[in-house]
Amino acid sequence: MKSVAIVGGGVSGLVAAWHLATTAPSWKITVFEADERVGGKLRQEEIAGHRVDVGAESALWRRPEVVDLLAELGVEAVHPQRFPALLWSRGSLEALPAGTLMGIPSDPESARGLLSDDEVARAADERPVEISVPRSEAGDSADDLADISVGDAVEQALGAAVVDRMVEPLLGGVYAGNARELSARACVPPLFKALRDGRRLTEAARAAASAVSSNDTRQVFGAPTDGMGSLPEALRAGLADRGVDVVTGARVTELRRSLGHRGTWHLEVERDGLPEPHEADGVIVTTAAPAAARLLAAIAPEASDALGGIEYATMAIVTYAFPASVHASLPEGTGFLVPPVDGRTIKASTFSSVKWPWLAEAAPDVAYVRVSMGRHRDEAVLDHADDELLALGLDDLGEATGLDLPAPLDAHVQRWTNGLPQYALGHVERVRRIRDDLTRLPALDVAGAALDGVGIPACVATARAAADRVLDDLGAQDELT
Ligand SMILES: Cc1cc2nc3c(=O)[nH]c(=O)nc-3n(C[C@H](O)[C@H](O)[C@H](O)COP(=O)(O)OP(=O)(O)OC[C@H]3O[C@@H](n4cnc5c(N)ncnc54)[C@H](O)[C@@H]3O)c2cc1C
Repeated sequence: MKSVAIVGGGVSGLVAAWHLATTAPSWKITVFEADERVGGKLRQEEIAGHRVDVGAESALWRRPEVVDLLAELGVEAVHPQRFPALLWSRGSLEALPAGTLMGIPSDPESARGLLSDDEVARAADERPVEISVPRSEAGDSADDLADISVGDAVEQALGAAVVDRMVEPLLGGVYAGNARELSARACVPPLFKALRDGRRLTEAARAAASAVSSNDTRQVFGAPTDGMGSLPEALRAGLADRGVDVVTGARVTELRRSLGHRGTWHLEVERDGLPEPHEADGVIVTTAAPAAARLLAAIAPEASDALGGIEYATMAIVTYAFPASVHASLPEGTGFLVPPVDGRTIKASTFSSVKWPWLAEAAPDVAYVRVSMGRHRDEAVLDHADDELLALGLDDLGEATGLDLPAPLDAHVQRWTNGLPQYALGHVERVRRIRDDLTRLPALDVAGAALDGVGIPACVATARAAADRVLDDLGAQDELT
């Protein structure tokens, strides 16, 4: 019987364990989670008497990973109400035009209103974009190192206003980062491909939009029936049924080769302040990059160095529980995004009880609205105490909606330190370095948001891929013995 230890009990760690347990039911699988509960960025809190998501709340449904996972777990799905995205720009709420690719318009004319006449004219005069292709160590031009930031590419092609007013708020919603620092290659692959093929960005946006035709009734986003934050407990229950040990309050502090046992791994685990040794044939590290870098420093220095260079955005999600009457007075939509160029405190808001019918049904007495604050290199707002964040968020919310909002019945501040990894220029190459270094080490791999995408479907994909790698490596060892 083989044994595998999973470090981290966020969605990536739990799914890696699930994949192993369902593929190799006789193996001994253990998940070590430092926190007192599993789930990582998938989390619910009780606010005004109901459990509400205070972290991730939905998954992209046009990718198969979460759809398949829920089917395996026997968990029903729900879908949000569909409204066009709103932007709170220059003091008013404007709909994002249809047919955009991460905020890039297919037709600049459609952005009139959101953009001034001069800004529309500049966007309509689309210009070519230069991608820098650095030299490799051997001195050749290294095509696979070519990259450009999303913001620089869009600014060169369509002007700064399209970046500031359309792309930045959308990218910010996903990465809590800065468009002029995030890699086009890693964050918006269809944009990068268009640049490489010498196509116009508006054309790429049109192609992306026509791939999703307006009469396409397939769902775009979804979540488990009781909200995304209920997924970790569903996974935990499924893992318990399969004999997987999920240990919470257990921080892995060291990872090294076992002495005297060829081919196995030794983990030092801290529980209740005391060290506990643990041996395993395989290990999957699914923590955020800084913790993974520390654990891998001695055994995989190159991977550790690459992981250690990934920066994170810290942010807060502030949730208000208003009296139910607020529900009907909110502007039509499921929330809005905020261009940072306007200097507001909040960067987005979700009208949760409008967006999620499951929540409105579960809590008919409450209208939940949440706002997010803080983004990469713009985190000073988070120095405020919780009650100040609550007041600042309420001010912006009142101004954006034009409502004289009543005092909330209840409210909650969730701070997310190391919330979202930033895919800086060269991220794709960085991830290649991490994986190349780890291929030297049998049955040891990494998974999670730092690698191939921050969204939950991408995390699930990395978890299953890492589990498959460990299954292959340990299976191959079986054949040798
Ligand atoms: C506020 C917010 C909203 C988001 N919204 C969405 C959304 O709506 N849709 C979407 O698709 N994505 C969303 N995301 C992104 C997505 O939720 C995350 O990328 C994903 O959940 C990360 O999962 P993970 O398992 O890779 O990492 P994590 O969730 O960070 O889990 C890692 C776990 O490792 C544990 N750990 C750390 N160090 C150790 C150690 N030494 N030993 C043991 N355990 C350790 C941590 O406690 C943590 O539980 C959001 C992210 C944030 C922050």
